[in-house]
Amino acid sequence: MSSKNSDKEKYYARLRHQMVETQIRNRGVTNPVVLKAMRNVPRHLFVPESVRSQAYDDHPLPIGHGQTISQPYMVAFMTEALAPRTGMKVLEIGTGSGYQTAVLLEAGAEVYSIERVQELAEKAKKQLEALGYSRFYIRVGDGTLGWPEAAPFDGIIVTAGAPEIPQPLVNQLADGGRLVIPVGDRMGQDLLLVEKREGQVFIQNLGGCVFVKLIGKHGWSQ
Ligand code: SAM
Repeated sequence: MSSKNSDKEKYYARLRHQMVETQIRNRGVTNPVVLKAMRNVPRHLFVPESVRSQAYDDHPLPIGHGQTISQPYMVAFMTEALAPRTGMKVLEIGTGSGYQTAVLLEAGAEVYSIERVQELAEKAKKQLEALGYSRFYIRVGDGTLGWPEAAPFDGIIVTAGAPEIPQPLVNQLADGGRLVIPVGDRMGQDLLLVEKREGQVFIQNLGGCVFVKLIGKHGWSQ
C-alpha cells in the first residue's frame, strides 16, 4: 500500500472508531462481537465513490438502483438482535452493497445472502472477495422464498421492509433461531424479532424503522 493510501485508510479507521463510539455504543449496542465487527469492516469500500466522504455518517446512503446501504446504527442494532456467534448459519435477504454481509462474517457467521438486483449482487460479491471473505454465498432471486436447500438457519435478517412476515422464512428458521425483519407499510415499519422455540413462534417489537421495500412473492409487488 502506498503511504498516501495508508494515510487514507488510517483516516477512515479513525472515522470508523468515532462512528462506533458516538452512533452505536452511545445508543446502547453493547455486544462486543458486534462492536468489533463494526470497527473492522471498511464501510467506505461498500459505498459508491460519489458518497464515500459520507460513509461513516449517521444515515443511509444511496448505492444505485434506487436502493440504500442502511444507517450504521441500524446495521449494528439488527446484528445484535440476531445474537451472532461463531459458526452460526445466517440467511440475509437484501445483500445490497454487501456491507451487512461483511459485518455478519466478521461476527463469525456463515452467510447465505439473496439480492434481487443482479448488478448489486455481483458488485457485493466482488467487494467481499476482494476483502478476503470466503464463508458466504450470494444468490440472485426473490428472498421472500428463502433458501430452502440450505435451511434451517440459526438467524435470518431481512434488510428491506415487508408488509408481513414471509411464511417461508419462518419455516426455514431453526428451532432456537432468530429472525429480524422490518414489517409495516411503505412509509415506515416496526422492526420485529421473531424467535422459534420448541416449534412455537414468539414476536417482539424492537421499535420503529424505515426501509426500502421488500419486493417479491411474500413481499410487496413491484
Ligand atoms: N443490507 C444491505 C447493505 O448492507 O447494503 C442494504 C440492503 S437495502 C436497504 C435492501 C435491499 O433489498 C436492496 O438491495 C433490494 O434490492 C433488496 N431486496 C428487496 N426485495 C428483495 C427480495 N425479495 N429479495 C432479495 N432482495 C431484495
